[in-house]
Amino acid sequence: MPLTAIIVGAGIGGLATAIALRQADFEVTILEKRPTIEEVGYAIDVPPNGTRILKHLGMDLRKLRGCHQKSLDVFKADVEPMKEIRSESRDIGDDAPFLSVHRVDYHEALKDMAMDPSLSGKPAHLRCNSRVASYDSSSGSVSLASGEELHADIIVAADGNSSKAHTWIVGEEHPVRLTGLNNVRFTIPSSVMLGHDKLKQLVENTKDRMCVYIDEAGNFIAHYACRETLAFIMKILQTKSQYLPAR
Ligand SMILES: Cc1cc2nc3c(=O)[nH]c(=O)nc-3n(C[C@H](O)[C@H](O)[C@H](O)COP(=O)(O)OP(=O)(O)OC[C@H]3O[C@@H](n4cnc5c(N)ncnc54)[C@H](O)[C@@H]3O)c2cc1C
Repeated sequence: MPLTAIIVGAGIGGLATAIALRQADFEVTILEKRPTIEEVGYAIDVPPNGTRILKHLGMDLRKLRGCHQKSLDVFKADVEPMKEIRSESRDIGDDAPFLSVHRVDYHEALKDMAMDPSLSGKPAHLRCNSRVASYDSSSGSVSLASGEELHADIIVAADGNSSKAHTWIVGEEHPVRLTGLNNVRFTIPSSVMLGHDKLKQLVENTKDRMCVYIDEAGNFIAHYACRETLAFIMKILQTKSQYLPAR
């Protein structure tokens, strides 16, 4: 009889785990509290340690529609003119590229691999509207908010950064600790930027370079291309939360 697995959470972590377990011949059920798994987000970095694992799982990296970042250029932003303080032009290589991908594409690609019936192993079964309310580590079960109890040989909690699993298993609360850091992300289509005299250079000069402008206090702005050349990403990270309340 095949071993069974329950994965709590259909995020990036849960879906990647589902792929690995279906390939190891587990019968996988993913429990997701949301009614559907329509993702949102902007750019997300998938560094070489991530792409290496994805390739090991058999992922065709082209499905991520990402941009291969070949260098990280850091500029000192509080001097005039801005001083380049580091510029790595190291090609990380195609075996494990550093990719910038759109979070929605990443999630979609993982979901396809977890559930595609044509791939090896049994496709994972996704159950939405299934909020896990409690875990019982001695009986190997979870209880849903609806009262339904489900058993499996292994249970993986992949329920994100506000995970409740820890408290049920270990018996101690570990609430999320606010860091006081904030970041703001947004994307601008490169077609819009190419129509603007000054912004045009950013798109043309940084197709495969991640650029970071950092001031003395450690605040920084970063920008890099994402989703082939269709969208351009600007990322602002404010390391001091003077103006924005911590989430
Ligand atoms: C909305 C959003 C947008 C983001 N955008 C970006 C971005 O643009 N760039 C970037 O670099 N990073 C971004 N991040 C951060 C990055 O994507 C996360 O670090 C990463 O997704 C974490 O993956 P995860 O699988 O651990 O958790 P999550 O993606 O949070 O997935 C956890 C899943 O578990 C489900 N869940 C939680 N509790 C239960 C329960 N009790 N029962 C059943 N299901 C449950 C949740 O609904 C969720 O689907 C974003 C995160 C979020 C949540």
